[in-house]
Amino acid sequence: TEHIANAAQSRQTLVSFEILPPLKGKSIESTYEHLDPLMEFKPPYVNVTYHRSEHMFKKRPDGSFEKVEIRKRPGTVGICAALMNHYKIDAVPHLICGGFTREETENALIDLAYLGVDNVLVLRGDAPKNESFFEAEPGGHRYAIDLLEQVANMNNGIYLEKDLQGGVKTKFCIGVAGYPEKHAEAPNLQSDLAYLKKKVDAGAEYVVTQMFFDNQKYFDFVKRCREAGINIPIIPGLKPLTSKKQLNLLPPIFNVDIPTELASEMMKAKSDKDAEQIGTEWLINQSKELKKFGVPVLHYYTLGKSIVVRNVVAAIS
Ligand code: FAD
Repeated sequence: TEHIANAAQSRQTLVSFEILPPLKGKSIESTYEHLDPLMEFKPPYVNVTYHRSEHMFKKRPDGSFEKVEIRKRPGTVGICAALMNHYKIDAVPHLICGGFTREETENALIDLAYLGVDNVLVLRGDAPKNESFFEAEPGGHRYAIDLLEQVANMNNGIYLEKDLQGGVKTKFCIGVAGYPEKHAEAPNLQSDLAYLKKKVDAGAEYVVTQMFFDNQKYFDFVKRCREAGINIPIIPGLKPLTSKKQLNLLPPIFNVDIPTELASEMMKAKSDKDAEQIGTEWLINQSKELKKFGVPVLHYYTLGKSIVVRNVVAAIS
């Protein structure tokens, strides 16, 4: 929140980026190569996503299948520490409920505190890919607010182990997710906002939104949040559309609407390069309008497209 407050005070718009940890077995160099082109824009922080293990089926030598759990992208905590050291910027690890016990979460938070990471984006996480519903891990949290309360407790020196009450007070600044087009599972936006308000009352200091391609959805969301008494900064999360197939892929995954104008322009693309250009221009216009609106930070989901994001940020700088 310090960075956000500074931006608001100096009437500046900052940029921040979200990255994924590399696939297991890949070197950290791939992360630096991905981020290097974006560093010229001096992001005050970079977010690093958190990933649970997925259930997979592995073929046995006799042809039968065995169900195994594979965590494809571990390393969030280590990547955060490495980025802080390498670029001298803040890192914001995401933390999720799904797939982790409270104890594992507490240990991750203790590691983060020792490493000097004092920001976290607290989330629930989604159901594993081939399962329809999110289920809490035995001994884990059900909703993001439950995880948030664990972090807030540690900020007050309260740990899971009863004998440890009065332990070191951590200093985590807590962010949470918000959904301008509502969360996929929420029956309506009003109910989603009521739960968001609870997260704010429990100690969330800012919101980062799900991606959206129509700024009006963000403006309406901010208005609804303010009316609901949610007065913390709401950072827009932005992603470039870069291919025709995303027109069908993104809406069911992220519960987002693609505006007619963007979809019809994209359908005219004759090549991948064309599609990328259309997505880039759309995002430049979205970013310019949001900047004019006075958002403190423009947060970009880079998802393997750091050059496209660099072109967008260069165009608005
Ligand atoms: P919650 O706040 O728990 O909400 C989930 C649903 O339950 C909503 O429909 C809400 O209305 C409802 N609800 C909330 N509280 C309650 C309650 N107490 N009782 C009943 N209903 C309730 N996923 C990852 O796995 N890793 C990541 O790194 C990651 N990063 C993300 C970053 C951003 C900015 C965003 C927007 C999403 C990210 N996600 C990530 C995806 C996220 O985990 C999913 O969208 C998930 O389905 C919901 O997370 P949440 O924190 O909003 O959940």
